[in-house]
Amino acid sequence: MKPAPFGYRRPGSLTEALSAYADASDAKILAGGQSLIPLLSMRLANVAELIDINGIEELSRITVSGEGVRFGATVRHSDLLSHPQVAAVQPMISAALQHVAHATIRNRGTTVGSIVHADASGEMPTVFALLDGRLTVQSVRGTRELSADELFIGPLETSLAPDEIATEIFVPALPARHGVAFDEIARRHGDYALVGVGVVVGLGPDERITSVRAGYVSVSEVPTVVDLTEVLGDRTSDGLTDEALRAAGELALTHLEPEADIHATAHYRAQLVRVLTGRVVRAAYDDAVARSN
Ligand code: FAD
Repeated sequence: MKPAPFGYRRPGSLTEALSAYADASDAKILAGGQSLIPLLSMRLANVAELIDINGIEELSRITVSGEGVRFGATVRHSDLLSHPQVAAVQPMISAALQHVAHATIRNRGTTVGSIVHADASGEMPTVFALLDGRLTVQSVRGTRELSADELFIGPLETSLAPDEIATEIFVPALPARHGVAFDEIARRHGDYALVGVGVVVGLGPDERITSVRAGYVSVSEVPTVVDLTEVLGDRTSDGLTDEALRAAGELALTHLEPEADIHATAHYRAQLVRVLTGRVVRAAYDDAVARSN
């Protein structure tokens, strides 16, 4: 199918893009186009004008430091995956990105675009929430920074104003004595997850758990993070029994709303939450132990 006719502008600077976006009515930002172009082509969305940000050099940067990873709005999923230091500073980014779509889509789709698209079936909105990321948005009126709680307000809905462009994201580094893991079940590799789970575990002395946070994909209307520390805190490897991990999955389910669709029943999704929570907590714990030694 073909989209309805629309106007197209490709500004060469952020200043130009911000004023074009402020002046336009019924315009949308075009980043990687991997969600927007299918929506336009299927006529599920309509725009008067696309403002293509791909010619703005300053939005294509990745900066990695001991503090964390900062990346601009035109950085592709594949740029982050292939960056030599990103996985060392914040391994959750790479662990989750490997599950995002197929290589061809990762070569074009942007991670910032995926997060502001705010699809709770996407891996990176959940990872942004789980890692306490910060999104910078700019307009001709100024700049502001948003957390996940401030950004995600409903299914595919964010608090961005119609003239605001997301310019970059900052994700803090993984703290010492912490570990991560991400896993998901999809019908085929590269499909959207039926359920996905990312976990960050923190350890104290004697390899005892001090914190466990889990982020869930495809089981809620907005990306959802659940603190599992009350069930799993103070445990060591031996304490991560089947019973404790099952209790963690049940706790998670009290915060989630698994729903049925053509791919899976709600019951099956709930069962995947239980199984994946246990599996991914265990893997994140082992990762934390390995990173602490
Ligand atoms: P675009 O499509 O360009 O934009 C998406 C939306 O965000 C638009 O509304 C646009 O206006 C807005 N937007 C984008 N950037 C900005 C910005 N800087 N400021 C303000 N608004 C902005 N994603 C997954 O997470 N997991 C998957 O398994 C997965 N599988 C896929 C399979 C297929 C076949 C396809 C086609 C896509 C898949 N995707 C998947 C989506 C992919 O990850 C996209 O890259 C992502 O959803 C959107 O990023 P984009 O850069 O392509 O954004």
